[in-house]
Amino acid sequence: MSKKYIPREFKKQVYLARRQKRAEKMKIAGLTALLFLCLGSIVILGFFWKASLKGRNPSKAPSLSFAKHTSADGNQVNQMGQGSSAIQGDSAPDSSMQGTSATDSSIQYSDAQNSAIQGNSSQASGRDTAWYLTLVNKQTPIPQDYEPDLVKVPGGESVDARIYDSLMQMLEDAREGNWGELPSVVSGYRTAKVQQKLYDDKIREYEKEGYSESEAAELAEQWVAVPGYSEHQLGFAVDINGATYDVYLWLQENSYKYGFIFRYPGNKTDITGVSEEVWHYRYVGKEAAAEMYEQGLCLEEYLENM
Ligand SMILES: [Zn+2]
Repeated sequence: MSKKYIPREFKKQVYLARRQKRAEKMKIAGLTALLFLCLGSIVILGFFWKASLKGRNPSKAPSLSFAKHTSADGNQVNQMGQGSSAIQGDSAPDSSMQGTSATDSSIQYSDAQNSAIQGNSSQASGRDTAWYLTLVNKQTPIPQDYEPDLVKVPGGESVDARIYDSLMQMLEDAREGNWGELPSVVSGYRTAKVQQKLYDDKIREYEKEGYSESEAAELAEQWVAVPGYSEHQLGFAVDINGATYDVYLWLQENSYKYGFIFRYPGNKTDITGVSEEVWHYRYVGKEAAAEMYEQGLCLEEYLENM
């Protein structure tokens, strides 16, 4: 009722005051939006500037951090037991080695590199990745038609010819931690066929223990890579068998000096997807190996940070 008697003039003033208030609000909102827009552009520009700097200068300053990756002591004895049985399983003689002598490995290699670059996001930045940093893991298969130039190591296994000298030097120097014996390479390069056999055998092993087909496959994959996804198919990875466990400790502390890394430490299983394998070493070149050792990085992390 009372509304009816409000004078017109008063109503107009209220209306005008409200309009002014609204206009002020709009002004503040507009200014805030502008401010955010400016800040956003600065951040984006900064990001591109940083990215362009990184692309121009890929060499990294040497790190001063000396955090070492040590494996969990408590598990080692237990894991050694698993290790030795896995090594026995791995050491299947490679009968199909005759067909693999590459005639023109350099040309084939550059093709392999290209597909490796396509297959991996950290390698897709347009920069060339050195052959020894080619990533093969559960997500990244071996480049198609990959055929390394192979040489035999003592014991009959084969490796990529380019890693032979570093590998033999490391094994020679590892004698001191191996009761004076040369540690043996029980598995080097594997053809897809050999990898398939190891994988099938491992599944059968678990099936015998009473696991279902899918459970057995899941368990097997923790120890043996699916064919096409094993580093052994690159020819840069070796499974080393020592006379004593000490040799594995020696390798963990010294392999980087020869360009090799302890590829599957127990504390990186969630990244590598592979349970700790004290016997599996992978060549990545001296520079990368030293950096990974000093900073406690696995290959996936190292490539991600490159
Ligand atoms: Zn291996």
